[in-house]
Amino acid sequence: MAETRTELQGPFGSQKSWDKSLEAPLLDYWDSIKVSSFDPRSKKPVFVIDTPPPYPSGKLHVGSASHYALIDMIARTARMLGREVLFPLGIDRNGLPVELFTEKKYGVSMRTTPREKFLELCSTALDGLEADMLQTFRTMGLSADFANKYRTDAESYRILTQATFIEQWKKGRIYIGTRPSNYCIDCGTTIADAEIEYREIPTKLVYFSFKVSGDPEEHVPIASTRPELICTCQAVIVNPEDERYKSLVGKKAVLPFYDREVPVVAHNSAKPEFGTGAVMVCSYGDYNDALLFRELALEEIIAIGLDGRMKPVAGEGLEGLTVKAARKAMIEKLQQAGLVSKIDEIAHRTPMCERSKTPIEIIPLEEYYLKVLDIKDTLNRLAHELKFHPEMHRIILLNWLEVALDWPITRRRFYGTEVPVWYCSKCRTPFIPEPGTYYKPWKEAPPGTPRCQKCGSDEFTGDTRTFDTWMDSSVSSLYITKYLSDVSFHERTYPAQIRPQGKDIIRTWLHYSILRCWQITGKLPWSDVWITGWGLDERGEKMSKSKGNITEPLPLIQKYGAENFRLWAASEVSTGSDYVTSEQKIAGAGKFLTKLWNIARFISGIPRPSVEPEYENLAPSDRWILAELSKLTEECLEGYMDYNFFIPANKIRDFTWNTFAAHYIELAKGRSYGQGFSEEEKLSAQYTLHECLKTLLLLLAPVSPFITETIWLAIYSKKSIHLELFPDFKRFSQEPLKSGKALLDFNGLVWNEKKSKGLSLKEPVSIPVPDELVEFAKDLKVMHNIT
Ligand SMILES: [Zn+2]
Ligand SMILES: [Zn+2]
Repeated sequence: MAETRTELQGPFGSQKSWDKSLEAPLLDYWDSIKVSSFDPRSKKPVFVIDTPPPYPSGKLHVGSASHYALIDMIARTARMLGREVLFPLGIDRNGLPVELFTEKKYGVSMRTTPREKFLELCSTALDGLEADMLQTFRTMGLSADFANKYRTDAESYRILTQATFIEQWKKGRIYIGTRPSNYCIDCGTTIADAEIEYREIPTKLVYFSFKVSGDPEEHVPIASTRPELICTCQAVIVNPEDERYKSLVGKKAVLPFYDREVPVVAHNSAKPEFGTGAVMVCSYGDYNDALLFRELALEEIIAIGLDGRMKPVAGEGLEGLTVKAARKAMIEKLQQAGLVSKIDEIAHRTPMCERSKTPIEIIPLEEYYLKVLDIKDTLNRLAHELKFHPEMHRIILLNWLEVALDWPITRRRFYGTEVPVWYCSKCRTPFIPEPGTYYKPWKEAPPGTPRCQKCGSDEFTGDTRTFDTWMDSSVSSLYITKYLSDVSFHERTYPAQIRPQGKDIIRTWLHYSILRCWQITGKLPWSDVWITGWGLDERGEKMSKSKGNITEPLPLIQKYGAENFRLWAASEVSTGSDYVTSEQKIAGAGKFLTKLWNIARFISGIPRPSVEPEYENLAPSDRWILAELSKLTEECLEGYMDYNFFIPANKIRDFTWNTFAAHYIELAKGRSYGQGFSEEEKLSAQYTLHECLKTLLLLLAPVSPFITETIWLAIYSKKSIHLELFPDFKRFSQEPLKSGKALLDFNGLVWNEKKSKGLSLKEPVSIPVPDELVEFAKDLKVMHNIT
């Protein structure tokens, strides 16, 4: 058998340890060989990733960076499983956070800046944020299709959003409704239930009383957190079982200061144990009020304007005040009138705008709604059909579907996809244009010369609103598969295989994507969804801008290298679980890379047989490690198939360090040099060392693309490792595994013996090799210098 000595290429020969400076040139190399390009005509099965388009509303944080590092591993895994991979990269550029960022950055206010000007500022602000984000992604080694990156504010994307709206309108899936809506005063817009978070806010629970009409001795004690809304009260409810108030039911209570009478009604939603047990029903203090107004057919009185200030109906002293100031003023008024019996400080569970952290008000507004309620059974079925990685997060979607209502999709904001509707100036009948064009009704006339269907007028006014940004991102899987623009591409790529996303947007992005894509295509947009948990700060707290505990990833990546960052992310993050960010651990990931580098340098110095020996002719130690290697391969592939990179990252590290380097290399080293062994035995060791290293590189390639590529190109091939397939775990018999434990135990015994006698590892020792290890005796004697 001929021996071929490997010619070392590039930096591998001279570099003593892995160095992050080796990363950047590989990025250009991968571009040049088009590792990440997608060929729709390929014969391979396609694999499409509905990559989350990141939202640039400030600096990227370390949790997002590790999220994308793991998504990159999904793409690389699929390639090594023989798939033609579409790994798109989009930037989500619509919506409120961008507007808020722009207002802050340029010191302007959206409502007082000309709309055209404001849109320009948003776009410029986004360009800067986007560039930072892309630089981080590229530095990390993201193998996404950067060349074809897309933006959700591009004309082609907005055409898609508008077209899907128009299609659904025509099918009767969208309606206009005026109903009590979640309204954020700071954002100046309606928001969906899914965008609300609840916080415990310190609040005053004020106890005061209403007189009872026609009975000067009687009164109704009320406890309320919203006394500023007394002017909107239309009823008082008490629980029918509440003995204290039975005599009041059917009587009228008199509102102080407003001298209006409202009925006292028995209703089960009044809780005797809360406050006084009697509740004033106002339009609208909370959701329950909204339900009661509808149920009791009360006429709503709206006291809070869209500017967040009290309307004239609130009366003297309150009119024009903010809600907060009005509340304070009303408490003082009640106190001065001697009506307050006590004030409790309570922690009140308050609905807040998720974006601006403002308490939301419930105000009736006319919005467009996408129907959800009448297809809940279907959504539920789809939620069960989708494969979840990990399974535990399916329940978040199922729970949300139980309470989800029709989705208000219009927003009173600027930087978003325009609602493509005009209204007849005479009778308000909507005019909806044909899909396929980008419409801006706030500044353009309707296309063609339409006439109102109802009254024949030719005068129209454009809608000035935009869509909820989830209307855009919920059709990302249609956009990336070219739903409107390329029929054959769409047929080849839709449904996609996987939607990777964070667990915090299950009720928004996941829910809305299933809803929208199913409505449009009648299919689930993907077969699998892969959900990550939260990246927590070093103390285990969720990172957020308001807490100021966000760590930026780029400085960390530049300091320690992308490979450290990626290996840390894979080793630390088990799919779906939260994980703690630790700079120390990111730094520490380098130890394994150095270990691997040193092993590769050692093995690169061993000649590699040009012909693979017959398995039967391999030495027993070699068959044992190849069995271990097969087991490792099987376990890693299981992890990869479930997109759980925690498994391969940790198994490979453990195997390389604790089995391969600690035991096998020591066992085979002497033989690979041929010291006192036959030619066949020597070649067996040489072959096996290389086989193990080669397999380890292939198995680690999706997690650590830089170091594996560098070693691979230096020793094994002129072709990139990222164009290779995973090894087959069935190549070697598992039979020799049974000797493993005895072998490891015996090595441990010898090492301990030498240590206790103060001998170095190289010094001779006299310990009998046990009978069960007789076939390994020759290797063991050389390894331990047993005499
Ligand atoms: Zn808000
Ligand atoms: Zn009309």
